[in-house]
Formats: sequence, structure tokens, C-alpha cells
Amino acid sequence: MKRIALLGCTGSIGTQTLDVVNRHPEKFKVVGLAAGGRGSLLAEQIKQFRPAKVSLATAQAAQDLAAQGGFGYQPSFLQGPEGLLELATDPEVDLVIVATSGQHGFAPTLAALAAGKEVALANKEVLIMAGEMVTEAARASGTQLRPIDSEHSAIWQCLRGETFSGDRPAMPDGEENWSESNSKVHRLILTASGGPFRTFSREQMANVTVEQAMKHPNWNMGPKITIDSATLFNKGLEVIEAHWLFGLDYDKIDVVVHAESIVHSMVEFIDGSIKAQLGTPDMRLPIQYAIGYPERLANDYPRLDWTKLRELHFELPDTDRFPALRLAYEAGIKGATYPTVLAAADEEAVNFFHQRRISYLGIPELVERVLTRHTPIAHPNLEDIAEVDRWARAAAAEEAGRLAPV
Ligand code: MG
Repeated sequence: MKRIALLGCTGSIGTQTLDVVNRHPEKFKVVGLAAGGRGSLLAEQIKQFRPAKVSLATAQAAQDLAAQGGFGYQPSFLQGPEGLLELATDPEVDLVIVATSGQHGFAPTLAALAAGKEVALANKEVLIMAGEMVTEAARASGTQLRPIDSEHSAIWQCLRGETFSGDRPAMPDGEENWSESNSKVHRLILTASGGPFRTFSREQMANVTVEQAMKHPNWNMGPKITIDSATLFNKGLEVIEAHWLFGLDYDKIDVVVHAESIVHSMVEFIDGSIKAQLGTPDMRLPIQYAIGYPERLANDYPRLDWTKLRELHFELPDTDRFPALRLAYEAGIKGATYPTVLAAADEEAVNFFHQRRISYLGIPELVERVLTRHTPIAHPNLEDIAEVDRWARAAAAEEAGRLAPV
């Protein structure tokens, strides 16, 4: 029985994680839940999973939920960043699932790694903004950081059994090989669906609406990541994520557009052999793999239907139409606090797009303007990252006012 703390339980990944847990009651026990909002959904989850501890974003939210009662038992209520830390380091917890958004994930991830917990990571920002610190923390504690992102889960599955060792991987192979010997990997190939505007010209992109951008062809995801998938920022962020997880240089990480989202990513080895992981586009699969590891668990999810699947398409990404991918590679290669600026400015740009303050094409334009203004800090600590994050968001707001009105 694996005892889990789920940070970010009411979001898209959080609810799908509880769906997986619910199907394997003999494997998992929910010990802690943390949510930033959506109190009524959280109350339902408490009744169903009966965690000993529940953490909310604010003292007021914790008081309100405690006063509401009706759970059939008395959970202890925690609050704020301290609540997340308590769950992440709880002696009763074996596995911490970090599915919070943004910076809320940093401190709990580092604390859980330091406490020697298994950590399954769905929060991209943790690796993009604090990749160096998190990687060091994983190495120091000998803990394997497990990706929940479908592409990185695919790469992990392809690498298992290959005695893989990158330069400084947070994600060594199943034999826990932390050595820095030569890698057998020639390159990683991340697949990208291309999003709803895969075939659009720049002219067509100039007029796309929020509603169009929110219609992802294959995946059911939250509002931020759905827009990031339409701009390819999501793939760019995943390239940086892969750099830290697998310890490979950016010239060994490629992206290929694959509209069907059946091949979730690939690894090309030094002999030219390529391994791929395929499956239906269902986030419960990478979630289940990360939390069930090293076991593969049976399930009754929809399977690939080979009688209906006729073709799989692959094409190179067009960075003229999707400049976000170029910006992400540039930020990743420059390193330091550039990826922090990339992620923070993009998050603001997506908010502005949702608010109809900037256009779809304004998203990468805004991010590029902020990146250009940045003075980097090498080897940032959490305070540096928080400071750069604040700066980038303020700069994004300034630059948004300078873009052409929608
Ligand atoms: Mg992904």
C-alpha cells in the first residue's frame, strides 16, 4: 500500500490522479490532499478518500471548510505554504504528487526530495524555473523524480532497461544509475500534436479567438496548458523539462509534430534504433505509470483500435508560424534565469489572451519582448527565481500595453 499526498487535487491532473487511485484501492491510500480553490469539489474528495490531512491556500478557506463539516470523520486542516510543506514531508506519506500550478510547487518538491519521498511531478514550472536546484536535490537524496507529463513518461518508459545515464539526470533508469558515463542515447524526440492551428497560416492565426484556441484536437487539459499547446509554448517548456529530467544538452532534444497524439515520444539510440511509446491520449496513463512505478497496473481504459487507426503523420515544426518553440530553445540554451522569464511571461501572456487584452499572435511577441529586456542571474536560488518571476510578470504587463490592441 503506497500512502500518497496529492498537492493540487482539484485541478485537471489532480482529479485524474484521484480517478486512478480510486480504481486501485488495494495499491494506494490518500493521506493528504491540498487544493488552492474549488471548495465544493474538495469537500466531495474528502468524503470519498478520507485523508488525515487537508491543506488549503488560506486560513479563511481552511476555517470555512472545517466549519462546514459533514465529512463523517475529523480531518486536520492546514493552510498556506506551510500546509504544503507539512504534507510533502509527512512521515505517513511515501509518495508526493506535485500537481499544483506555478511556484507553489517549488518548496514542497524540494522538501519532499530532501525527506527522501518518491516524487511524481506534474508541475512543469518546478523544473523549468528551478531545474538546477531540483536536480541537485534529487541527486543528493538519491531520489528519482518521476514525470507525469505524457512525453516525458514516454521517454522514461523507452529508457527503462537501457542503463541510461545522461550528464545530470533527475530521471535515471530503473537500475538507479547515477553515474556520468557516456550516454547510449543519440537524441530524444518529443512529439507535439501541433494544436488546433497546426495547418493555419500566419494570416489565419491573426484572427483566431480564445474559443478556437481552447479546442484542443486530442487532449482534455486545463485552460493554461491548452493555450500553450496551441502556441507550442507547451512543447518548448517540455524541451526544457526534458533537459533537466534526462540531463541531455538541447542539441540532443528534438521536436516532431505528430497530429494524432498516439506516439507520445521517442528515444533514438546511438545505433540508430528508435524506441517509441504509443497509446491513447489519456493523461491517466502517465499518471498511473508515475504513481504505480515500478509496477504496471491493469486498467480498463479505452485501448488503441488498430482496425480504425490507418495513418500516423509526422512533420517538422515550423518556428516561423510557431516562434514559441524557438524562444524556448533559446531560453533553455542561455539557461540561468531565462527559462524563469519564459515561463512567467508566457503565463501572463496567456492570462492577457484569455482576458482578450492581447491577440493569439501577441503571446509569443510579448514573451520575446520580455526576454529581450532580461538581465540574467546565474545559478539562481529560490529567492532569485521569485524576484525574476515578479520582474517578468511586471514587464509582461508593461509590454502588453505596447502591443497592438485586439
Ligand atoms: Mg505534455
